[in-house]
Amino acid sequence: MNNSDPYDLFVIGGGINGCGIARDAVGRGFSVMLAEKDDLASGTSSSSTKLIHGGLRYLEHYEFRLVREALMEREVLWRMAPHIIWPMRFILPHQKGLRPAWFLRLGLFLYDHLGGRKLLPPTRVLDLKADAAGTPLKPGFSKAFEYSDCWVNDARLVALNARDAADRGAEIRTRTKVVETRRDADAWSISLEDGLTGQAETVRARLLINAAGPWVDSVLRSAAGENDARNVRLVQGSHIVIKRKFEDARAFFFQNRDERIIFAIPYEGDFTLIGTTDRDFNEDLDAAEISDDEISYLCSAASEYFAEPVTRDDVVWTYSGVRPLYDDGASAAQEATRDYVLVEEGGADEGLLINIFGGKITTYRRLAEAVIEKVERRLGKRKAGWTANSSLPGGDFAANDFQRLLSGLKERFRFLTDTHAHRLMRLYGTRAEAILGSAGRYEDLGTCFGSDLYAAEVDYLVENEWAVTAEDILWRRTKRGLHMSEEQISELSAYLRTSKTEKLKAG
Ligand SMILES: Cc1cc2nc3c(=O)[nH]c(=O)nc-3n(C[C@H](O)[C@H](O)[C@H](O)COP(=O)(O)OP(=O)(O)OC[C@H]3O[C@@H](n4cnc5c(N)ncnc54)[C@H](O)[C@@H]3O)c2cc1C
Repeated sequence: MNNSDPYDLFVIGGGINGCGIARDAVGRGFSVMLAEKDDLASGTSSSSTKLIHGGLRYLEHYEFRLVREALMEREVLWRMAPHIIWPMRFILPHQKGLRPAWFLRLGLFLYDHLGGRKLLPPTRVLDLKADAAGTPLKPGFSKAFEYSDCWVNDARLVALNARDAADRGAEIRTRTKVVETRRDADAWSISLEDGLTGQAETVRARLLINAAGPWVDSVLRSAAGENDARNVRLVQGSHIVIKRKFEDARAFFFQNRDERIIFAIPYEGDFTLIGTTDRDFNEDLDAAEISDDEISYLCSAASEYFAEPVTRDDVVWTYSGVRPLYDDGASAAQEATRDYVLVEEGGADEGLLINIFGGKITTYRRLAEAVIEKVERRLGKRKAGWTANSSLPGGDFAANDFQRLLSGLKERFRFLTDTHAHRLMRLYGTRAEAILGSAGRYEDLGTCFGSDLYAAEVDYLVENEWAVTAEDILWRRTKRGLHMSEEQISELSAYLRTSKTEKLKAG
């Protein structure tokens, strides 16, 4: 591409939607640039409950279109990235006085049959007095339903979409904020600011996609001059992480007395993830964090079910995200639609702007296809849709082949501990070997920063996945932050600062 040629598409935001759109578009022959003001997935896309799910609860709100599309996506995404996505069974205990058993059974019947389920096993009824799932629960629970959904490493799904988009020719810039956008005749001028060097730059694009998630309105207000943009309902959701509360590999789906639900999910081997909350959010988007009330709410909701209560002292980590839901006027935060809405602005001879509201991690690929349809209407069709049968970096193996690949990795790198080999395979799939190279012993992987995080992995993440800070590595590309001390984190930060300086010196 000539330097003065405008890009076909400019995408604002490196969350799942922005990266998914960039990947799909570049694979169809459009030239693409994406700017993310912070790190990839630093917004909502690393703070989800991490489920690729139809959304059983949305059936109660009659969101059949969304649920069906999301259910169909479960196996499509699992096939695309079987290292970071895998099936999970959920136990939904029947609780007297809440939703009746026939209602749960009906909902799960629909869930099993609305579409797309080929490999995932169907729902079954459990006797909690006899099944191991009942062990950590209070003795009063006797009946439960067990159903299927999938688990996803959300932050890695974003990074892998960005990696694949870049491999196919997209320009991906992180730490690059869009500060202003201007329509010039039939294209856009987009002013960027590099968050690391402060350097300003202007690029041009024929189409602009606003995938700024919870910042979508603020981008419209600050960068596009639409002073009264108020399209999203910002709804905060927080999670707590506690030491492992139960041995079972299955997750729990608990109904609360306020008609909401929470999940308790096996997490990172040694932990249990509990969430989420739903509350309207009007504070600083760059500083969303869990409130004391939310911690109490999650502890007491989980303690309704677990025989051993969950207390504040059990909490080892928390995180909080803000859902950018389309404001459909629903009265309660938990009732606002989770479906996505695409809004176009611009006449036939003007640069088109597409704003994205709402959406789920689960439906990001379909959302990207819907955006590309609009792009094609403006720029013409170049290549057919392709992502449904593609694989993400490291995910080029059959969905049920994970164990075989893991055994192969252990065979080739005999010095790896079982947990380390498993972790590398889960994060990097077939690309784990690119990190391990020709190593024949731990010393060959460079400095160990703590836990099983070695320089070889850190360097790989800096070179291939836009990691810059210790936080990028410890809380988004990996979750090693759960296992490392402040001192170890400082050592990693110092290492990253030095490698950055060396890189700058090398030009
Ligand atoms: C608590 C919670 C639980 C959830 N659980 C699930 C779940 O289990 N399953 C599921 O499918 N979905 C779930 N979701 C929904 C899902 O996480 C979101 O819909 C999705 O992550 C939104 O992605 P996004 O790309 O639109 O936004 P984001 O991930 O927020 O990305 C937007 C990006 O734009 C960047 N940006 C903003 N302004 C600028 C600018 N001026 N210049 C450059 N970049 C900019 C931001 O830094 C940000 O990284 C959950 C959401 C929450 C909050």
